[in-house]
This record gives sequence, structure tokens and C-alpha cells, in this order.
Amino acid sequence: NKNEKWDIKDPKRYRYELATMGCRTRVYENIAGEKSSLGRGNLSFTTMNMPRLAIEARIKAESLEESGKKEAIERKAKEIFIESVHALSELIAEQLYARYQYQRTALARQFPFMMGNDVSKGGGKLSPNDQVGDVLRQGTLGIGFIGGHNAMMALYGEGHAHSQKAWDTLFEAVTEMNKVADEYKQKYQLNFSVLATPAEGLSGRFTRMDRRKYGIIPGVTDNDYYVNSFHVDVKEPITITEKIKREAPFHAITRGGHITYVELDGEAQKNVKAIAKIVKVMHDEGIGYGSINHPVDTCQACGYKGVIYDKCPVCQSENIMRMRRITGYLTGDLSTWNSAKRAEERDRVKHG
Ligand SMILES: [Zn+2]
Repeated sequence: NKNEKWDIKDPKRYRYELATMGCRTRVYENIAGEKSSLGRGNLSFTTMNMPRLAIEARIKAESLEESGKKEAIERKAKEIFIESVHALSELIAEQLYARYQYQRTALARQFPFMMGNDVSKGGGKLSPNDQVGDVLRQGTLGIGFIGGHNAMMALYGEGHAHSQKAWDTLFEAVTEMNKVADEYKQKYQLNFSVLATPAEGLSGRFTRMDRRKYGIIPGVTDNDYYVNSFHVDVKEPITITEKIKREAPFHAITRGGHITYVELDGEAQKNVKAIAKIVKVMHDEGIGYGSINHPVDTCQACGYKGVIYDKCPVCQSENIMRMRRITGYLTGDLSTWNSAKRAEERDRVKHG
């Protein structure tokens, strides 16, 4: 996230600072101009259903591997999985490129604010009836993925939080996606990047589709959702430091956007030192964007804020607003989330 041009004495140093929209968008490196977040954005992204690739790989390996030995099947399944991650990344890159070709033909007047105010760098120079064309080269095209944890469960029956074999495979898969992103970046001179998709809607949809097709597979399709990108399963008991160490290496290889969060119980405001320590570990391990979640409940009757269990401790009201963070957003009230994300919140363990 550093830029060599950044200088603390420069009043315009913000030009060389990273601006990130959490896991949704990280726009910084630039093949079409200066490394900056200014005047740029994500044009479009497409998300890979990683668990499906792993389920298919496992089925195929079981039919190919006549010995029936566990290790041989796992080795074969991994090989097929990595190959299919590569192939699907290429398909996604081509699809994003085809879509980009269409996006280019839009006229500047279709985005009067964005282009007129040069919010999209270079747009200010266009006449209303010009095509946006090369202005879009400043944007990024994201190759995303979901359910790294569930994919590892499909391959090994173990997640990457505690199994080193699973961690290595997931890391290799995302590295493979980066190879494809780099290849297409050179080929089309466009900002292809790998995105740790937040997947508000997809996390439930892909799971339902795969359950219909493959039935219930433990740790894979037996939940209401797939776990976010490279995240450790929200249900997995793991310490804060360990969670950060498992996820941090993925940040450098998901430059289209990423987030790592830890869940605190109780009131963080009463333990300031713990917060400072967590931030230090995140910094030292190379977390690009980190977040510390702690419950903040508000009594709607008297305004008391804190962790409220059943009733407000001050006025006994049961009219409580519960604020939580999901996929990078602070969301006003749990009741407005979709059912998959509500199920995820219910399952989340606190990290000690
Ligand atoms: Zn109250």
C-alpha cells in the first residue's frame, strides 16, 4: 500500500495514498497511468464458485484413482482443482474483457456527474457525445472468488485454518488466479486484478445451487452460505493472532480488494490496549485492510449504548437496535440482512 512518491511534507500527498472500499474495491496499481486511487474505480467483477470446482475435482479424482488410496485421491483432486481454477480464471478474464469492450461504447453524457466533474480521470475532457473509451482504462476488472474454506473442505475434509495442506492448496489456487490476471494485464494492457469477493448475495445463492446438484456435503453445502473468499470459517475456533496470520498472506495476492476482521466479544471501549495490540499484529503480518468487530447495541427507548443482552440495563426496554458489520459494512440492524448473511452472523465465533 506504499507509494514511492508519497512524502509527508507534500500537502497533496493524498494523491499517493491508498483509498479502499474495504473488500469491495481496492484500486491502486495502474498499468494505464499513475499508481493512485484518485479518479479510478472498479469497472466490473465476476466471481468464481470455488467450492464447485473442488467438488468436481474430488469426484473426478475418485473415479480416476483406481487404488482408492486417500493420499492418491487427494493429490489427483488437488491437481485437477488447480487446473480448473486456472481455466475458469481465463474464462472470467475474457468475459470481463468482452464486457469492457461494450462499456467503452457508452457516451460521456450517460454519466454527466462522473465525466463532467472528472471523477473518472480523463472524463472531464470528453464532449457529451464522445464515447467514454480509454477513460475506462483507469478502472479495474476483478476476477473474484468465494468459499475458499468450503473448497478445502470438499478436497480434504479440513479447512485452511488448521490444516497446512489445505492452506497451501488455497494459497496456490489464488496465486494461480494472479498468474492469469498478470497474463491478461499484459495481453490487453488493462488493470485485471484478483478480488476477495465480499459476495453479499452470492454466498447463499451458490450454496443452494450446489446443494441441489451435489446434495449435502459436510462443511461444504450443509450451511446456508459459503464463507467469504479466503476467510477462515466463521465457526472455526481460532485465536485473533492465529486468524490474522492465516489470512494476511492472501492480502498481497488479492489486490482488487480484501478484508480481514476479528470478532471481539464485550465492549472494546473498555479494553483499549487489546485494540492497539491487534492493530500492531495486523500491521506486522501485512494485512492490507483490517477490521475489528465489536457489538454495539443501542436502546431505542433511552439511547443507552453497549452490549445489551435481553433488556436495556438502564430502562429495561426490549426495543434494541443491534449493529454489526458484515462484508465490510456497518449495518444498522441485523433484521435488514439477507438470510444467508444472517445465518453467518449467528454462526460467527468470537476470537479470543
Ligand atoms: Zn434503555
